[in-house]
Amino acid sequence: MTQSDRLVFSKEVEEPKPSGKSPWRVLIADDDAEIHAVTKLALGDLMLDERPIQFFHAYSCDETIEVLRTEPNIAMVLLDVVMECDDAGLKAVRMIREELGNDEVRIVLRTGQPGYAPEEQVITEYDINDYKTKTDLTRNKLLTTVVSALRSYRQIRTITQSRQGLEKIIHAAANLMEQHSIIAFSEGVVTQLASMLGMSPEGLLCVRTQEREHPDDLLVLGAAGHYAGAIKHSVGALEKPDIERSIRECIEKKQHIFLDHATVFYIEGKGHCAAAYLENHRVLDEIDHQMLEIFLANISVGFENVNLFEELRAAAYRDPLTGLPNRQEFTRLLQESIDINRDEVYAICDVSHFSDVNETLGQDVGNMLLKAIGDRFSEAFGERVIVARIGADVFGLIGSRKDLTPERVRQICRESFMAGEDRIPVVMTSGFTQKHHAKSGLDILKQGYIALKTAKLHRLEGYAYFHPDMEEETARRLDLVRRLGADFRAEKLQVWFQPQVNLKTREIIGFEALLRWPQADGSFIPPDVFIPLAEYSGLVVEIGAWVLEESCRSLQELSSVCGQELRMAVNVSIPQFRTLDFPDQVERILTQYHLGPGRLELEITESIVMDDPAMVIEILKRLRERGVGVAVDDFGVGFSSLNYIQRLPLNKLKIDRSFVQNSTTKNGRVIIETIARMGHQLELATIAEGIETEEQLQTFRELNVQEGQGYLFAKPTPLPKLLELLSESGCSIENH
Ligand code: C2E
Ligand code: CA
Ligand code: CA
Repeated sequence: MTQSDRLVFSKEVEEPKPSGKSPWRVLIADDDAEIHAVTKLALGDLMLDERPIQFFHAYSCDETIEVLRTEPNIAMVLLDVVMECDDAGLKAVRMIREELGNDEVRIVLRTGQPGYAPEEQVITEYDINDYKTKTDLTRNKLLTTVVSALRSYRQIRTITQSRQGLEKIIHAAANLMEQHSIIAFSEGVVTQLASMLGMSPEGLLCVRTQEREHPDDLLVLGAAGHYAGAIKHSVGALEKPDIERSIRECIEKKQHIFLDHATVFYIEGKGHCAAAYLENHRVLDEIDHQMLEIFLANISVGFENVNLFEELRAAAYRDPLTGLPNRQEFTRLLQESIDINRDEVYAICDVSHFSDVNETLGQDVGNMLLKAIGDRFSEAFGERVIVARIGADVFGLIGSRKDLTPERVRQICRESFMAGEDRIPVVMTSGFTQKHHAKSGLDILKQGYIALKTAKLHRLEGYAYFHPDMEEETARRLDLVRRLGADFRAEKLQVWFQPQVNLKTREIIGFEALLRWPQADGSFIPPDVFIPLAEYSGLVVEIGAWVLEESCRSLQELSSVCGQELRMAVNVSIPQFRTLDFPDQVERILTQYHLGPGRLELEITESIVMDDPAMVIEILKRLRERGVGVAVDDFGVGFSSLNYIQRLPLNKLKIDRSFVQNSTTKNGRVIIETIARMGHQLELATIAEGIETEEQLQTFRELNVQEGQGYLFAKPTPLPKLLELLSESGCSIENH
């Protein structure tokens, strides 16, 4: 026989006797063909645990190794010591244990010549079960030897398999625990079951639905392999009545169902039970069953965990205070709205000055207010508009064009809100947007915030609609703010001064300080442009403090030139007022430049007053106590606030330039007359700004307006030039 013939022969698998159970696989390795025949004859009828024997054959060391390498689960080798060489068998033993790393196969060494017995050491070192001379091996003796070797093999297998099984179960369970959705979990059950049993993952996991519409319907929660498409559908959709029937049987009988080509595993859980249908490609043995039981028990726990996870996740997507969807969920809802291409409107609504509520009335009241707002929104909009809380004092809305409008939002917030004992009026500023070119929920969110910012910046009607240009505009504004900050720190800003005069005598009585931002090319960015940015970014606090100091310092110089106690008017923005030590700051600067409090007049706009009356009144009182004057700038533009103006500790009304321009028309004159009279009634002084012509001047004189300022007298001028002009003209401006 040639080597290759033998190899073919050796690999031949001899049919085991028919039996339901897998046979013991025994390898006979001997260079004597007769021994193969005799051994088979002796053991052919052996049944151990109802399992027959299946023989494999090898005739040399190499062949022995080859069979063991390619055939799994060989239980024992009857190994001849002397084959192609004197110690071929011993060589094979070493290779089996060391190279193949096969510790499980039982080895019985046989030899024809008693003299060739291996040393004791080899027997222990290589875990050899038995050593026999061939003459020893009568049928009975051979049987005893083989049976005990096979028993020993079975024990070893059980131990290793259950160890491996345990590892697999732990691994499978750990993998599953990472799946936090019921779908992923169910899919995981199918794949983990399959991999644990060494099958290819072809199967599905079903639960019985409790829905009223389809009671008893079997829903596929997880699936793998060629069943993957079945997920989230009814089992019926598979159009495999056999499978459906076996799954139903499994759930009804609450037990595993073993079929020829598949197994249906019953999975018990609190409240839920499920069935996993898995295609079989091999017969499951005892150990498989043990592993399954442990695994399935683990899964029940897993199912409950997943339910818990879903609850936790629900919590992760809700704002605990209001019970509304939170920002994360809102972003997802936005995404969903884009994905299904609904033509919807999105709004970001900011509660103005919420932090004041928190600071003055306490956080509990603040929380109650937020809850009241959320409740009011939900109730007013009902199902039609999604309401979410996406920031501390920011709400997000999604609704149709018809339902979600600025008017509606305003209407809903018109009545003040009850927060515990307190009734709190709320001003809402909102940014609205539509889909435009948004690709993601985050894009929409960004657009909404840009619109919101714009609404705040322009103090429009409390809302703005996003327009794609705004994005560019925002970038431009950010750049401007950045440059303003840099130029301020580089001391490139300037304060110019415009004289204010007594309209009767044309004598200078004071100045208004006006900020200037010169550019490299000699031009100026108008304060109307950059002041709102400075206010919005908060930069105005630092810059304003500097203007105040610069103005007071300059007033000293101007006064010394003119030798009289002149006055300085300085514009103040709301963020400056919000720094609570503002009155102290003013006092410090006045002291520093030895100026009496009457020498300073702060100009605040009507909108400042309206913005936050309580806070403004508080600060104004403190300024008043220190003797600092306050004028209402741009008076008449807002005009809604007469009520407040009356209660504020003010000194002066500054009539807005827009009225001055119309002062010579009949209507214009009536308005100015009204304002002037109002000033008299409120015992406030009046000053007119923007006087450009003698005719305008004449009008104001006639209406008893005492003071004025404008190009007719002087333009805003840098300090050095102004000092020069004043000293030349002897502090008179008749000539200008
Ligand atoms: P405002 O307080 O109403 O200042 C008066 C504005 O009218 C100034 O514009 C001034 O240059 C201009 N003006 C004065 N006389 C005439 C005139 O006869 N005709 C015309 N057409 N205009 C005249 P300006 O300097 O561009 O300032 C614009 C606004 O910027 C100011 O309005 C004020 O609200 C704000 N602002 C300027 N400086 C500061 C500052 O230091 N702090 C703050 N918070 N705001 C400032
Ligand atoms: Ca002013
Ligand atoms: Ca003004």
